[in-house]
Amino acid sequence: LVQLTGVNKWFGELHVLQDIDLSIDRGEVVVVIGPSGSGKSTLCRTINRLESIEKGEISIDGQRLPEEGKQLARLRSDVGMVFQSFNLFAHKTILENVMLGPTKVRRTSKADAEKRARELLERVGVSAQADKYPAQLSGGQQQRVAIARALAMDPKVMLFDEPTSALDPEMINEVLDVMTSLAREGMTMIVVTHEMGFARRAANRVVFMDGGRIVEAADPQTFFTNPRSERARDFLSKIL
Ligand code: ATP
Ligand code: MG
Repeated sequence: LVQLTGVNKWFGELHVLQDIDLSIDRGEVVVVIGPSGSGKSTLCRTINRLESIEKGEISIDGQRLPEEGKQLARLRSDVGMVFQSFNLFAHKTILENVMLGPTKVRRTSKADAEKRARELLERVGVSAQADKYPAQLSGGQQQRVAIARALAMDPKVMLFDEPTSALDPEMINEVLDVMTSLAREGMTMIVVTHEMGFARRAANRVVFMDGGRIVEAADPQTFFTNPRSERARDFLSKIL
């Protein structure tokens, strides 16, 4: 469903992504881990062209991502993204936040968008907060709204970049639980996270990055019990 072939990116002199080849099947959950600065966020951002690439190809559902234009906007809306910071619109209610994409970009009618938004808020467990404003919600609730907002666009793939890193410990699980159930329902997901419990539970594959390269990729069982590379072993010894 998502195919990266020979992807390279530079920030000036810095070669942040080096010959990345990655192919993700429909329904697959890929967890990306690696030290700070290894290029995990940049990888996510290139997949929906928030960042351009200098070399290589990215395609989603068989369609190559163009550099710009109308087609890019459409393909980009196939990719839902959830960041560390929730980025909700502060002056709109929770319900309005979730309705905004479908009504503005997809031209869905207000009534249909509202119906769908309420279903999604129910699904992530914040339906009681629909008429509140983001600041009235906890971090964990806001992040679940951000997930609902991304899902409202019916994405083919969901990208999560450290979705629980900004949360207080007691709120991490409520967000991971929503992500785990999405995974079980067959959503294709790319998740950058330090939550190794989630990786063991939900990932089909763990991808370890270092210095802009994919150093190792394996199923979680193999990766956690028997990492092949020295760098992965070293990284795991620091975080586990
Ligand atoms: P972290 O775990 O800290 O989030 P990361 O693996 O997500 O790290 P990236 O944010 O992808 O790493 O950054 C990879 C490298 O690219 C880092 O050296 C970073 O400083 C650099 N970088 C990221 N964004 C930019 C930018 N817009 N301009 C220049 N350099 C950048
Ligand atoms: Mg990052």
